Amino acid sequence: MALGVHLPHIPGFGEGVHGDQASLDPIRIAVALAVTLVPLHRSRKFRLTNGDSIEPEVDWVCRQAQVVHGPNLVPTIEAMPETQTVDKVLLCAPRGFCAGVEMAIKALAWMVRAFEPPVYCYHEIVHNKLVVDRFRERGVVFVDEISEVPEGRPIMLSAHGSAPEVVAAAKARGSYVVNAVCPLVTKVHHEVKVRASKGYRIIYVGHDGHEEAVGTMAVAPNAISRVESVEEVAALPDFDEPTALLAQTTLSHREWSEVADAAKERFPGLWQPTNSDLCFATTNRQSALMAIADRCDAILVIGSANSSNTNALAKLASEAGCERVYRVNGPEEVPGNLVGTVGVTAGASAPDDVVSAVIASLDPTHGVEEVRITDEDEYFAPPRDIRELLAALDIAATIGVGGTLVDRPALHDRRINATDVLLTL
Ligand code: SF4
Repeated sequence: MALGVHLPHIPGFGEGVHGDQASLDPIRIAVALAVTLVPLHRSRKFRLTNGDSIEPEVDWVCRQAQVVHGPNLVPTIEAMPETQTVDKVLLCAPRGFCAGVEMAIKALAWMVRAFEPPVYCYHEIVHNKLVVDRFRERGVVFVDEISEVPEGRPIMLSAHGSAPEVVAAAKARGSYVVNAVCPLVTKVHHEVKVRASKGYRIIYVGHDGHEEAVGTMAVAPNAISRVESVEEVAALPDFDEPTALLAQTTLSHREWSEVADAAKERFPGLWQPTNSDLCFATTNRQSALMAIADRCDAILVIGSANSSNTNALAKLASEAGCERVYRVNGPEEVPGNLVGTVGVTAGASAPDDVVSAVIASLDPTHGVEEVRITDEDEYFAPPRDIRELLAALDIAATIGVGGTLVDRPALHDRRINATDVLLTL
């Protein structure tokens, strides 16, 4: 039935794509008029099976027609996944693995190579799901209690630092024990020990239940009061003893500064270490993020949900005013509808190959601009037990192949990066 109504031109309608069934009828006219009258839903794209894409307005019409006439009328239309047009990626530098994480991952990799599986690790070696899964595939068993480890097995203690009684229990139970605690966490443990021995009350700013905080507080449990908010500082009792202020290394400056200010006001004369407990890696990643935040339509923070510094980065990006901030483990979790300029950073335990995979999934039209705020060349040597293990393996291997010990090439641990170690594990 032809009617004397002028319809807006709709590509695909009456042009052979839909065949004779696309001839005009009242429902088609109503649908076509609706194109100009009804707010359009633009969140999904459609395409024709001949490969032509359809404009959002036509999407709407086609889908209405599909509803009214059933699938036979427009059998050539099929839904596509949501699409994105990322113009550019702003890539933070520094990002990803810090010196402490590099050291811990390489140390556990040496354990995996040197011992028959299973090797046991007290707590996740670092807070990253992909890293932990990779080691699990290689026979590492992660435990939350040393008592779960069978007697006589090799044990590694994680980078977050362990309570003194955990270290002692591991040494009593394990055949070979390596403590991969980050030296910066060891520094805080040392400060706790010294201040407690001098009779100080330690006000420790840290997250409730975080492994680093639990391990640090266990160094002097009777001398520490943990806080993480201004309100908790206000609720502390008056102390007769002198007071000291220490911190979890992976706090953001924002998390730290207002609580520290409240503590200083509440306890004049508060002792603080000359060098801040907040670690350089946390600070650098946050500064790099702040350098790009106001240029981004969306920001991706790569890292796991239990990573303190990853969560601090995501929070910081939101506080900086970015409305679309996503924490993702990897490319499979990247939202499909990102547009414009997308910022990318990674927490200190996120591997660099995952960063590359995320950027590849964004496929930015105008490429990647790296925004570097500083060069980070800190390096932490392997734990002493790993150095001794490597030296023994090196000597055995040299003699085994008939070489001479004086001429054997040195092992340059610094030149080996943890991302490569994980990929070749
Ligand atoms: S984030 Fe800082 S404290 Fe934590 S492992 Fe890395 S360097 Fe050490």
